[in-house]
Amino acid sequence: MENLLVAENIYKRFGNFTALNNVSIEVPRGSIFGLLGPNGAGKTTLLRIINQITMPDEGVIYLDGQPLQPDDIAHIGYLPEERGLYKSMKVGEQALYLARLKGLSKGEAKERLQYWFEKLDIMDWWDKKIQELSKGMAQKVQFVITVLHNPKLLIFDEPFSGFDPVNAGIIKNEILKLKEEGATILFSTHRMESVEELCDYMALLHKSNKILDGKVSEIKREYKSNTYEVGLEAASDEVLLAELRDKFEIGPASFKSINDDLKVSIKLQEHENPNDLLQYLLTKAKINHFVEVIPSVNDIFIKTVTQNA
Ligand code: ADP
Ligand code: MG
Repeated sequence: MENLLVAENIYKRFGNFTALNNVSIEVPRGSIFGLLGPNGAGKTTLLRIINQITMPDEGVIYLDGQPLQPDDIAHIGYLPEERGLYKSMKVGEQALYLARLKGLSKGEAKERLQYWFEKLDIMDWWDKKIQELSKGMAQKVQFVITVLHNPKLLIFDEPFSGFDPVNAGIIKNEILKLKEEGATILFSTHRMESVEELCDYMALLHKSNKILDGKVSEIKREYKSNTYEVGLEAASDEVLLAELRDKFEIGPASFKSINDDLKVSIKLQEHENPNDLLQYLLTKAKINHFVEVIPSVNDIFIKTVTQNA
C-alpha cells in the first residue's frame, strides 16, 4: 500500500455553507504532505475529520487501505490548531499525564519526555505552570506530546504559527527528522512560503475546493516558464539592455546582489535553452549571476486561483 492515508470525496457542510466540497487527498507513506491554503479554505475541517473529531457528510477516510476506525487514533499524533493545555498544571506533570493517556507506561513516558525536553532545550520548564509559558513555549510542549508515542501518522495543524523564526526552524528540522525515522506527516499552513523546503507533496485548498495537488517538484516543473534571472556587467547598461530587449522577452529581476550590475529576468522561447542564452551573454557582458526562476508555491497558488476565477 503506497498511500498511508487517503481522503476520498469528502464533503462537509455547516448549515448552508459547504466547508469541504468533494475534497480528496492521497498521502504517500513516509512523505511530508502540506495542506495549503488561505484562512477559511477548509484545512482545519479536513484535519478534524481525519482525526474523527467531526464526521464528514459524504466521503471516506482510509488509513492503510482500511476505512478509518475509532481505535486508529492510537496510530495518529495530532497537534490541533487550538492549543489547549490545562493552564494551572505544571508542564512536566501535564506532559506525563497526557503521555499516559496515549498508553505509555510511567517509566516509558518519563524517559521519552526527558529525551524530547532535552532535545528541544525546555527541561527548565518542567516545574513551571503552563500559564507562565509564552505561546511559543506552550506550543513546543504540545509538539512533544504529539510525537511522543511514535505514531506512524503525524498531523500538525498550523505547526509554525506562534513561533519565532528560530523556533519555527527548530520544529521544521524535527519534522524532517521524524520523516527520516519513518513517520508520515500531514500538516496545514496558510503561510505558503514557509513550506517550500519541507513538503514532498502538497494540496492547495481554496474556498472549500481542492484546486491543485501532487508532487511539489513536479508541480514546480509544470509551472516554470523557462525564465532566467541574470546579473550582467557591461560597459553600458543602456546599450546592453537595448540589445537584450531586441532579442528576448525581458522583465524585472528580484534577486539581490552586492554587484552594481544590470539585473533582469529573461524569458526564453520554448525551443531555446539556457546554454543558448549563456553563449549569447558571454559575448556581451561579464556574467555575475545566472539562475533559473523556480516559481514559489505562493506564485503557483496565485496563478491557479486566477486561472480558475
Ligand atoms: P482553515 O483551517 O483553512 O482556515 P477551517 O476549516 O477552519 O479553515 O474553516 C473553513 C470554513 O468553515 C470557515 O469559513 C469556517 O468559518 C467554517 N467552519 C468551520 N467550522 C465550523 C463550524 N463548526 N460551524 C460553522 N462553520 C464552520
Ligand atoms: Mg485552520
